[in-house]
Amino acid sequence: MLQSDCILSASEDSKSSFRKEIGMTLDSILSSFSDDSAYSGIDPLSLREEIGKLGFLPEEGMGFDKTLETVRESIMPHLLRTWSTSYMPHLHSPALIESIASELIISSFNDSMDSWDQGPAATELEVHVIKGLCRLFGFPSEADGAFTSGGSQSNLSAIIAARDAYCQRVLRYDVKKKGLPECYARLRLYTSEISHFSMEKSCHLLGLGYDAVVKLPVDSSCRIDIEKAERIIEKDKEQGLLPFCIVATAGTTDFGSIDDMKAIRRIADRFGMMMHVDAAYGSGLIVSDRYRSRLDGIESADTITIDFHKMFLLPISCSAVIMRDASLLEPFELHADYLNREEDEEDGFINLVGKGIQTTRRFDALKVFMAFSVRGRKGYGEIIDKCVDNAMYFYQRLMDDDSFVVAVRPEISSVVFCLDASDGINKAIRRRLLAEGTVIGQTVKDGRTMLKFTLLNPGLSHSHIDDLIEKIRTIGRELMSRKTGQ
Ligand SMILES: *Cc1c(COP(=O)(O)O)cnc(C)c1O
Repeated sequence: MLQSDCILSASEDSKSSFRKEIGMTLDSILSSFSDDSAYSGIDPLSLREEIGKLGFLPEEGMGFDKTLETVRESIMPHLLRTWSTSYMPHLHSPALIESIASELIISSFNDSMDSWDQGPAATELEVHVIKGLCRLFGFPSEADGAFTSGGSQSNLSAIIAARDAYCQRVLRYDVKKKGLPECYARLRLYTSEISHFSMEKSCHLLGLGYDAVVKLPVDSSCRIDIEKAERIIEKDKEQGLLPFCIVATAGTTDFGSIDDMKAIRRIADRFGMMMHVDAAYGSGLIVSDRYRSRLDGIESADTITIDFHKMFLLPISCSAVIMRDASLLEPFELHADYLNREEDEEDGFINLVGKGIQTTRRFDALKVFMAFSVRGRKGYGEIIDKCVDNAMYFYQRLMDDDSFVVAVRPEISSVVFCLDASDGINKAIRRRLLAEGTVIGQTVKDGRTMLKFTLLNPGLSHSHIDDLIEKIRTIGRELMSRKTGQ
């Protein structure tokens, strides 16, 4: 039986079903928030068993109430709670309340960004937000960009733009039409040895392969070593390689370090390369009065990746790539008779499908617009400052204590360190904390296992940090005494 109220519409039946189901959903969500722990602690095998018992496409539907009950009982308790102050391993943030409200608007209307007639106000608002972002990051008025599914896709888009623009400008070769040039195996992209793996992934997808990515060594602050970088590129150029792009990372995934963007611009100019800034992590600093200067030089990039589902605390997914000249988006332009007729565009209808990789696409710009409007630059900046200040406090506490080895002074909100003990002890500390409901990260620096904390929760206080350090010290002491006791 087809229910007349199965879709959200203007009918009173539909509105009342919507109100009821959304209300019940809110109640279920809120009742599942029982404490501040990050997760239930269930192990993978037990969870798999529990999930395996759930039905899949029953012949007859169970209805909304029953289905919600199943989700509330079997799924919600084991979802990760990103708002927990015990959750700090990844660049994975809790969500601002108003942005969850935006999500409801986005899916209620379900507009799509591909063509103007699929999202009139959505299209115009995205264009408006992109323009604002270009100004915020110091780009000129010819700049443009698009929302994407995340930093990985923003980076991929930027590298496509760099490859095609380089081939057009230097080789007088049209990649879009003819595919890769014969000399493709000599194209090189330079990036920090600790940059995000989407560099390799992108180069593979673009037919250039991992070998096209040259990893530049970093200095003791985890930033690209500029002198070494210049020598490496010089040498490559002498050997006939084709350096087409250099990527600065503004906020490396593990350490939050920020490459010297002014120096990287000089290198890009000297060798005729495009410059991309991967600011998936560090872009949040742009709204901070206190830390904005750490992004100095970002305005000189050709392209910038901005992630809103990291420091900006918006729900997944939300990212943008902006380009200093709208012509850099040319690789994505393509006309289809059914979707984005050129004659319409001449009459002022903007079809965003021609600015990115995706076709059907979410109206994520609304989340940025609403959160910016709710908080203002100052209010947003205070949230970012709190996270950066917390990292600095954490760092200072660790530096005052010689039982810890700290990887690097934080520039954003990542703290990476280890207890001055074996890798095994440090790994065991992370596992023990996990079993107790505190989720932290782990990485390697200079061959040593390190504990990693990414502080994206503005609700985290100094006393949480003090407690955590104490806990790590206690667990470490216990593990070490057990080891010597054997
Ligand atoms: C997280 C991250 C990415 C990838 O972004 P997604 O949104 O996860 O796709 C790229 N670069 C850096 C530096 C990151 O931290």
